[in-house]
Amino acid sequence: LVERMRPFGTTIFTEMSALAVRTGAVNLGQGFPDTDGPAEMLAAAAEALASGANQYPPLAGIPVLRHAIAAHEQRFWSLERDPDSEVTVTAGATEAIAAAILALCEPGDEVVCFEPYYDSYAASITLAGAVRRPVTLRPEMGGRYEFDEAALRAAFGPRTRLVLLNTPHNPTGKVFSGAELTLIAELCQEYDAFAVTDEVYEHLVFDGEHIPLATLPGMRDRTLRISSAGKTFSCTGWKVGWATGPARLVSAVQRVKQFLTFVNASPLQPAVAVALGLPDAYFTEFNARMRANRDRLTAGLRDAGFGVFPSYGTYFVTADIRPLGGTDGVEFCRALPARSGVVAVPTQVFYDHQDAGRHLIRFAFCKRLDVIDEAVRRLRG
Ligand code: PMP
Ligand code: GLN
Repeated sequence: LVERMRPFGTTIFTEMSALAVRTGAVNLGQGFPDTDGPAEMLAAAAEALASGANQYPPLAGIPVLRHAIAAHEQRFWSLERDPDSEVTVTAGATEAIAAAILALCEPGDEVVCFEPYYDSYAASITLAGAVRRPVTLRPEMGGRYEFDEAALRAAFGPRTRLVLLNTPHNPTGKVFSGAELTLIAELCQEYDAFAVTDEVYEHLVFDGEHIPLATLPGMRDRTLRISSAGKTFSCTGWKVGWATGPARLVSAVQRVKQFLTFVNASPLQPAVAVALGLPDAYFTEFNARMRANRDRLTAGLRDAGFGVFPSYGTYFVTADIRPLGGTDGVEFCRALPARSGVVAVPTQVFYDHQDAGRHLIRFAFCKRLDVIDEAVRRLRG
């Protein structure tokens, strides 16, 4: 194994899901739903499989899916995309993020990101030989995660190549505000940096609104927007994602992507196109269901004695273990199945400055209410 990948052990999601299987604990660790996505989408996939859509699709994705992605961005975010040059399908958001960083960063280039960050960010930046410049999100008064403006400014410099922004944010549940995004946009322009935005939770904002960075003045031409079907349509195992943006950025992603996976699962592509075209009611009902889950788990964790930070979006809520006598999230989560029969994820592994997250753990609420209730019952002892 090359030296630079040595620090990356097994992902925390693999470790914690294996622990859940081994111990029979309720798994609120890895974020995946326990119910299937829309029936129309599942039927379309079955039909595509049975009707011979089983060979290599085009590199960019099948035209019907690229059109559906463009139409979805127009419908929800008023972003105009040319489906032929400004949209490309990827193996989940994960491949889009990796291909974007590999395509845009020279060794030694710097990537500004916010910690805690989704774990693939650090690995993709490292694979590219680039350097991460993390800005820490910290829970402030009222439990909202905030960053220090001076720290963000200080993270930018002459080697800044891009900002990697995830909003709604995993694991904190933060939804970046218009004012925060405006500051990020100004700094991108001042330093002539690109933005790569990970918006896989775009339909999961419960308080506030989701604002794609690409919609801010001056940002469309320098932003690559990434999303995926996994979260929005409860099909995390399908790994159908996409990147949209100006043609020069999309073609840069394609240049790399063609040698990573070349193309992605052909029968799933028409099915995701069907899902993206579902009426608004699908998206509102999905959001309402997840909001109810969030409320139920947040209240339950408080009853169980955790300090709980409000989650404004995503699948996740974070909690402070100190009120329960915990000091180290990794130790706490490794012991939690034996102690309470529940699996959670320590968020300290998503920081460079691990002290900032030592006492924080994350619970996923993309589960049936009876599963959430059972987890809470166990945690309350
Ligand atoms: N980004 C974030 C913030 C995520 O939480 C996830 C999680 N699954 C991904 C990217 C990866 O998405 P995909 O499964 O589509 O690769
Ligand atoms: N995005 C999900 C999470 O944060 C799953 C990630 C994974 O398994 N790689 O839990």
